[in-house]
Amino acid sequence: VIRIKDVSKNYGSLQVLKKINLDIMPGEVVAVIGPSGSGKSTLLRCMNAIEKVSGGEIWFKEQCITDRRVDYDLLRQKVGMVFQHFNLFPHMTVMKNILLSPVKVKKQPKDLMEKKALELLKKVGLEDKKDVYPEMLSGGQKQRIAIARALAMEPEILLFDEPTSALDPEMVGEVLSTMQELARTGMTMVVVTHEMGFAREVADRVVFMDEGIIMEKGTPQQVFEETQNERVQAFLKKML
Ligand code: ATP
Ligand code: MG
Repeated sequence: VIRIKDVSKNYGSLQVLKKINLDIMPGEVVAVIGPSGSGKSTLLRCMNAIEKVSGGEIWFKEQCITDRRVDYDLLRQKVGMVFQHFNLFPHMTVMKNILLSPVKVKKQPKDLMEKKALELLKKVGLEDKKDVYPEMLSGGQKQRIAIARALAMEPEILLFDEPTSALDPEMVGEVLSTMQELARTGMTMVVVTHEMGFAREVADRVVFMDEGIIMEKGTPQQVFEETQNERVQAFLKKML
């Protein structure tokens, strides 16, 4: 679905990504782990062109998205993103939050979308919250709404940037199980996370980043149990 070819990214003289290569296959769940500042978020943001690359190419299916002639609205419909801080609109109800982009940007008929939004709310276990405002929700509920909102655009791949790290510990589980359920339905997902349990159990592949490079990648078994790389071992020891 996404092909990352020799991607570099500089902020001034700081080289944040150094010739990254990574392919995301259809239906795959890829967990991206690694220390703070290693470039995980930057890589994710390059994948839906919120961030421009300094070198290399990123392809979304047959389209080179690091090209200049890209329809960014259309791209971001197909390559959805869920953030750490949900970014729900505070002055809109849950239903309005979910309908906004599909109706305004994608020009979907409102009544049809309303039906679909209800299904999505059911899927994340929050159909009773459709008329409340975000401030009435817990962090875990907000994040599940954010996931439903992203799904309403019918993306072909969903990118998650530490979706649970702003949550109180007791709410992490409900969001992770929503994501696990989504993975089970075949959604292609790239998840930057500090939740090693999720990476281990749900991901098909794990990518370990350090100082702007992919230092290790493989199955959870390969990365968590069999790695010979000392940096990876030291990181995992700290996290588990
Ligand atoms: P964390 O786990 O803390 O979220 P990360 O792996 O996501 O870290 P990034 O956010 O990708 O790391 O940042 C990588 C490096 O790029 C860091 O040194 C950061 O300070 C720097 N950086 C990120 N965004 C910018 C920016 N807009 N301008 C300048 N430097 C930036
Ligand atoms: Mg980050």
